[in-house]
Amino acid sequence: MKSLLSRLTVQRSEMVTCLRQLVDLESPSHHKAALDTLGRHLAAEFGKIGGRTRFHPQEHAGDHLQVNFSGAGKPILILGHMDTVWDLGTLDSMPFRVAKGRAYGPGSFDMKAGIVQAIYAIRALQQMHGRLPRAITVLLVTDEEIGSRSSRPITEALAKKSAAVLVLEPSQGSKGALKTSRKGVGAYHVKVAGQEAHSGLDSDKGVSAILELARQLLAIEKFTDRKRGITANPGVIRGGTRTNVVAGEATADVDARVSQSKDIAYLDTKFRSLKPFDKRCRVETTGGIGRPPMERSKKGVALFTLARRLAKELGWELEEASVGGGSDGNFTAALGIPTLDGLGAVGEGAHARHESVVIAEMPRRAALLARLIESIPG
Ligand SMILES: [Zn+2]
Repeated sequence: MKSLLSRLTVQRSEMVTCLRQLVDLESPSHHKAALDTLGRHLAAEFGKIGGRTRFHPQEHAGDHLQVNFSGAGKPILILGHMDTVWDLGTLDSMPFRVAKGRAYGPGSFDMKAGIVQAIYAIRALQQMHGRLPRAITVLLVTDEEIGSRSSRPITEALAKKSAAVLVLEPSQGSKGALKTSRKGVGAYHVKVAGQEAHSGLDSDKGVSAILELARQLLAIEKFTDRKRGITANPGVIRGGTRTNVVAGEATADVDARVSQSKDIAYLDTKFRSLKPFDKRCRVETTGGIGRPPMERSKKGVALFTLARRLAKELGWELEEASVGGGSDGNFTAALGIPTLDGLGAVGEGAHARHESVVIAEMPRRAALLARLIESIPG
């Protein structure tokens, strides 16, 4: 046990170099060419440790990378994403850097350090055993940050063939808790049509879509039920053309989240039944919950319990967390495949400019991942 961890601890600075290479290859979700460049780099890295790589080519998204490693038993699926929320050129103002034991840079925490840890976990297992003790499939998708539209079928198909799914998303909090439940996530688009008119000459003929939307938003606010784990957040609103025009159109994009699967239909009915307060307006709602919630399940908790025991053997107390953000683990958990999330880096600032990873934690996170791969039954 010790030797696995000490082996990885010795490789710490190598891991940081590997992370730097990944961060330096910027990979925003919408930039296919950049994603494909990172994909080729990662395919080469996994190739070096004996993985058989194949791409799932995409026309509009980056190609998704699958890596297979032979070994005994039903494969363990290790799930990650290459895309980040950061545009090309972010490195100019937010370069990769190491300071006070942390590695900074766009995508470092979410989730390039997680990918590095997976590479080193697999390598350590090979070094220890001479060969891999377990079959592993790695899937690195390119569209997780924008809803995983093109990768979802691939993720689901591979999950169905796997004994368990380990997700390389960042861990939670400063102690690096794992995630056994996540909210389901979606978005609704609410469009209001009113009657455009000159605000001076014809103000009586105008029907303001903006005012109608404002009333709708107050109704939508009431959908939020924190106890039940439901939130509806109008994150973007648009409407109107000029101050001297009664607005003919206004729209809102609303982020919607639920903790329980049964609330997907409940919330959907709420959104679909929005009716205009002013009968002269039209209200149209589209969208829905695209990512089902990852509910805290027996299978997920069993995996966590195993992880906690393995962490204890490695000398630390692992905690469990429930979070509001979704990941591709939501899809696999909803299929009933045991899924454990948050196995990636310890750090802070996902999607924020201070995004960073605690370097000292990288070896033991990799060790935990390696021990899970060895120990999951099936
Ligand atoms: Zn992520």
